[in-house]
Formats: sequence, C-alpha cells, structure tokens
Amino acid sequence: MDLKDNPKKPLYFYYLIAMGIILIFNTFILPTLMKMQITQVDYGTFLKLVESGHVESVEVQDDLIAFTAVDETGREIVFVTGRMDDPDLVNRLYNADVQFTKVIPRENSPLVNFLLSWILPMVFFIGIGQFLIKRLQNRIGGLGNAMSFGKSNAKIYVEAQTGISFDDVAGQDEAKEALQEIIDYLHDPAKYTEIGAKIPKGVLLVGPPGTGKTLLAKAVAGESKVPFFSISGSEFVEMFVGMGAARVRDLFKQAQEKAPCIVFIDEIDTIGKSRSSGQLGGNDEREQTLNQLLTEMDGFEADKGVVILAATNRPETLDKALLRPGRFDRRVPVELPDLQGREAILKVHAQKVKLGSDIDLNAIARATPGASGADLANIINEAALRAVRLGRTYVTQSDLEESVEVVIAGYERKNAVISMKDKLTIAYHEIGHALVAAKLKHSAPVHKITIIPRTSGALGFTMQIDEGEKILMSKDEALDRITTLLGGRSAEEVALGTITSGAANDIEQATKIARAMVTRFGMSDEFDMMALETVSNRYLGEDASLIVSAETAAKIDEETLKIIKVCHQRAIEILESNKEKLHQLTKLLLERETLSGAEFIAALEEPVG
Ligand code: ADP
Ligand code: MG
Ligand code: ZN
Repeated sequence: MDLKDNPKKPLYFYYLIAMGIILIFNTFILPTLMKMQITQVDYGTFLKLVESGHVESVEVQDDLIAFTAVDETGREIVFVTGRMDDPDLVNRLYNADVQFTKVIPRENSPLVNFLLSWILPMVFFIGIGQFLIKRLQNRIGGLGNAMSFGKSNAKIYVEAQTGISFDDVAGQDEAKEALQEIIDYLHDPAKYTEIGAKIPKGVLLVGPPGTGKTLLAKAVAGESKVPFFSISGSEFVEMFVGMGAARVRDLFKQAQEKAPCIVFIDEIDTIGKSRSSGQLGGNDEREQTLNQLLTEMDGFEADKGVVILAATNRPETLDKALLRPGRFDRRVPVELPDLQGREAILKVHAQKVKLGSDIDLNAIARATPGASGADLANIINEAALRAVRLGRTYVTQSDLEESVEVVIAGYERKNAVISMKDKLTIAYHEIGHALVAAKLKHSAPVHKITIIPRTSGALGFTMQIDEGEKILMSKDEALDRITTLLGGRSAEEVALGTITSGAANDIEQATKIARAMVTRFGMSDEFDMMALETVSNRYLGEDASLIVSAETAAKIDEETLKIIKVCHQRAIEILESNKEKLHQLTKLLLERETLSGAEFIAALEEPVG
C-alpha cells in the first residue's frame, strides 16, 4: 500500500488492527489464562474438601461456587464447581468454619446501561455516517459546497502564507503608495483615530487584466501582517438561491471576529454589476448577494479595523451604490506599466531564472509597449523554456527576444511549406513596411524584419521599436503609422503589380486608427472636436460605440476613407521613388529570411549598384 497516496488510510487501518487484537485477546487468550489457575471439581469433592477442613473461603455465585483450598504443599488453589440445590450447604460451611459469602450480582446503574445500549451504538453509527458523507462529498466535489450551508469558503491567508511583499510587485508605485496608508493603519490604528482620521472602508483596484491587481492584494496581506480573507466574486454566486447572501454574511462575521484584518474580493464585477443594467427579469440571486454586501459594508464602523479590497477590470459596470462614499469610495488605478515599469517587472521575474552576461532588459522593455505584467512574466518564462530546449543552462538575450516575438506573434513555423512565389510576395510586403517606415519622419525605427511564418498565422512581420516611451500620439504620428501599415500592400502593387489577401490585418489596424482619428481624437477637419464615439469597457479591448445619427455615421465613413486613401497614395509614392532599393532589400531578405534593424539600415544606406 502506498502511504503517500492515501495518508488517511493508515490511521483508520491501525484502529481496526488494534480492535482486532483486543477482540482476540478477550475471546481466546484471557479465558485460557484464567483457566490455567482455576481447577474445576465435582460437587462431591467440594463437600469432601470442606469437611476435611482444606477449604478456606467460598464464594457462592448464581450458578457456580468458587472456593480456595490449600494443598499438601501449602499452596492456595482456586477451584470451581457447579452449584447444586443444596439447602444444607450453609450449615456445612458454618460447621467447617469456612469464610463464605454469596456474591451480589453486579448490576450496572440504569444510566450506564442506557449509555451503553443506546447512546454508544448511536454515536458509533453517526460517526460512520459522517465518515461516509465526507467521502461522498469529496467524490462529487462541487456539490460538497452545497451541503455546508451558508459557510463561506473564504481562505484565511496570514502573512507567512502569501509570502508576497511589495518587493515582488514592480512598478505600480502609485498603487503601492495608496495601499501603504492602509497597511500603516492596520499596523497602528491609534495614530489615525487620535487625529480623528477615518481610513476608507473599501478600496477598489481597477485596471486591465494581468497588471497585478491580485498580486498587489496579496502583497498588502504580506506587508500588513494581519489576517487576510480572500474570496473571488464568482464564489459568491452559488447553485442555490440565497447562498451568495449567506456567504457574504458569513464572510463579514468571520472578518469582524478577526479584526483588524483585510477582506479581498477578487473580480467583484461578477456580483457588483449594476442592478439596473440587468437582463430581462434581472438576476435575483446576484442582486440579493449585492444587497447583502451593501448592507454588510454599512454594518460595521470604519474604526473596527476591517479594510475591504476589491479588484475588477470592468469598473464601469459596477453598481453606483457600491461606489458611493462609505463603501468602495477609494479607487486605485493599476494601469499597464510604462517603459520603466516594464523594465522593473522584467527585473523582478528575471531574478527567478539564470541569466547570461549579455542581458539587456531595457531593450526588451522597449520592445514590449502595451504588455501587462503577466505578459512580461510570461516572456521571461518562455525565454527560460527556450534556453532549456536549446540545451543551455542560462538565458541569453536572444532567448528573450525570441520569446517577445512568441508572445506577440506565436512560435515560428520553420517547416511550413510556402511556394517560392508566395515567399517573394511576402518579402516584398515586409520590405514595403520597413522601407516606408524608414522614409517617414514620425515612424518608429525598424527593429527586425522576418519572413519566417508564425503559429499565429502571420506569414512574416516587421517589428518597430520606439526609442522611448510614447504616451501621446500626434496627428503626424498617427498618419505615418497608417502609411507604414499600408506600405506592405503598396509594395506588392508597386513591385509585382498584383494584390493578395496578405494585407487583411494591416488594413484592419490602419482603419481602426483612421477611424479613431475621426471619431475620438478630433483629428479631422470635418468634425473638429466633436465626440462621435464612446468607449465602454476601457480595460478590456476598448469597445467603442457610435453615438451619432445615421447621416453622421455615413460621413464618418467618408472621412475615414479619405485618410486611408491619402496614406495609401503616400506609401505608393515613397516606394515608387525607391523602387531600386525595394528590389535590392527584398532580395536580401529572401536570402537571409530575417534581417535585424542594423542590417536593414546598413543595406538601405548602401548605394544601389
Ligand atoms: P490581475 O491584475 O489580472 O489580477 P495578477 O495579479 O493575477 O493580475 O497578475 C498575474 C501575474 O503577472 C502575477 O502573478 C505576476 O507574476 C505578474 N505580474 C503582474 N503585474 C506584476 C508586477 N507589477 N510586478 C511583478 N509581477 C507582475
Ligand atoms: Mg486577478
Ligand atoms: Zn503587413
């Protein structure tokens, strides 16, 4: 039997063995032990022994007589004999001067009897029952929760268990500063109450996925050294009506007993959705849960020392009541990291892997604008995996660069079969992007060009990396970006006179930028600074929806098209006037399959010959 496999079994098993041993001892060994010392004799012998004066004492029991006699050597022996209906016995014993007595049958007290015959078996069966139910619950997993009515599954994290401190969260300095106050308060509430300051009851962490909200909450727990209750919003929404509300009640009861402490509700939008925006008929269960949460948050005083943290990436869907002062009135934005933040995050995660000597994390940070902390952690891990695949014991810069591309475009498909004709088209397309980018003033420098296909479906790509961090985009930059995106298709037209389906993604991106210029950035003459779209869902993919009449919508399309046409024309002009270069660079790319930024620039500056 594998003990590790089922650690509970041995204990239970040993109990059974122990019981078996006791049973065997009681039924077989004890009686034989007794028998060895007791000699059975017939009644006549007993009488003879009494008369001869050998018997010392007699004990008369219900159906037998036990007596002791002394043998020739003076040893005392215990005898038993069956009890006869002998009315003269008392006289005989009296005359022989023997000590004798009748044993009073031992009767247990009624209480003990009751306990033994009723309570003990009941306890025994209840025990077995409980055991079976537990096993059953474990078997059917989720359903087990349904049986523990109203008990919250909030896990209690204490400092030692999360083991995460602010040092593990890189960047996010503003968020850390806001949370530092809360940690400080939990350490020494008196400092705040003396002045009369009230610490906010609820703090909402908002930001895109993967920016470290959950990580920050854990770090707060690690830093503040108070009990930490963590529950995910979805855990409130249960299979039985009313359970969610019961859980909320239970969670807050536990928290108040353990105060000062932190309650963390992850993904709070699952329960905190605005009640009015409900689907037809609403969702009673969720609403009840939310109402209970609102009530509980009002139910305790701020100076109790319970601080509630919550995280969401859809703050706009949250119910207004949840956000009013006295509830989640403080909002801590956890935004995508900037260049500095990305480098810091890379540094934190790079500590966990063995690095070579050529590592430049700043370059990686520059290559990954818009990446979240989770993406960056993933990049480091992919690099380590690649190092192992290549049989190295440390990570090099090329591993990191390759894994950036893996995260952006997927793995390389080295053995994909692509015809020579398609390869030529792809090469012209990519060089088109690169050449247009190089000739434009506001375009980011080319970092890498490749025509090795990727698992994401990209047949090649041109990577551009800005020197520093770009936060604002000027109109010129937006136009140059569109022109660069359209440069791929334009090169196909200029060099080959054909057009292919390969530009679909470029077209989509270019249109998106052009459209945003018109509808949101106020960069068109026609609409000046009129807002034509609103962005809902800021942290999850920026879904924009038009807020204009149908006529205006048609005009927006016209305006967008105008921008695209101008940019397309510009790209074609650039390529036409550098046609020689276009052919030369494409030839080079076809030979090498991948060009670095430096190789590309060198070839570009080389005189055509
Ligand atoms: P979310 O905001 O979606 O809750 P998480 O906190 O779950 O994101 O972050 C996911 C992972 O990404 C973390 O476990 C961590 O490895 C990494 N990460 C995200 N942000 C940071 C950061 N600022 N510093 C270090 N690691 C981070
Ligand atoms: Mg999270
Ligand atoms: Zn392209």
